[in-house]
Amino acid sequence: MKDVHNNISAFLREYLDIYGEDIFIDPSKIKGISMQSEEELTSASPSTSPAKVKINQPKLVKKANAPLWNFMNQIKDCTRCPLGHSRTTFVFGEGNENADIMFIGEAPGAEEDRTGIPFVGRAGQLLNKLLASIKVNREDVFIANILKCRPPNNRDPQPAEVQECIPYLHKQIELIKPKVIVALGRIAAQNLLNSTSALKQMRERLWQYQGVNMIVTYHPAAILRNMGLLPIAMQDFKFIFDTYQQATGHE
Ligand code: URA
Repeated sequence: MKDVHNNISAFLREYLDIYGEDIFIDPSKIKGISMQSEEELTSASPSTSPAKVKINQPKLVKKANAPLWNFMNQIKDCTRCPLGHSRTTFVFGEGNENADIMFIGEAPGAEEDRTGIPFVGRAGQLLNKLLASIKVNREDVFIANILKCRPPNNRDPQPAEVQECIPYLHKQIELIKPKVIVALGRIAAQNLLNSTSALKQMRERLWQYQGVNMIVTYHPAAILRNMGLLPIAMQDFKFIFDTYQQATGHE
């Protein structure tokens, strides 16, 4: 019993040291909110909502990449576009602050707006599975979006919103210094590559974005709408992994 007490005390001390007094909960770690099977992912059951707790945007200052978290503190109250007034939570991004791979989606959805964490809804669970298929942990990558705030009813980001928000993403890339960037879906790919090409034409190629290798693949939400895309996306993830290995020399 004493050991358990000591372990918990040590954990809380370390937690306070890293995160300050804000409680930051990763829904993927909460018992009972585990990843769903593909059958469950494709079912329309309303019980699929993963996050059951109100999670505050962490006002954390992590030590290892303080410039990144200082930057978050600088921009988290942004109201440069109207979404800054309609959002519940600013979704900065999360993951390994010095990640070699960075995944970039479109914009927060309802769950992300509520929790402040990108890709925690059903699309996020599928993303976790795709990462697992190449033996990569979600905690080892950094995940962000083109927009930091949720567009009403999940509509597509508007050019003026992207124009205001994308410099934040550029700064994140500069501070995280990934070796590989993955654009998830057409909106992310078109905005990053400044292109109007169809997603199909942008896949299976190695692009350069601000001098960083970039790969385009399907958005997990698109895969959920058409599970026939899953094997194609898995091929893309194999390509992502091969590129990552080449870029980092990691096994
Ligand atoms: N879809 C996205 O593009 N981003 C999220 O964070 C969640 C869903």
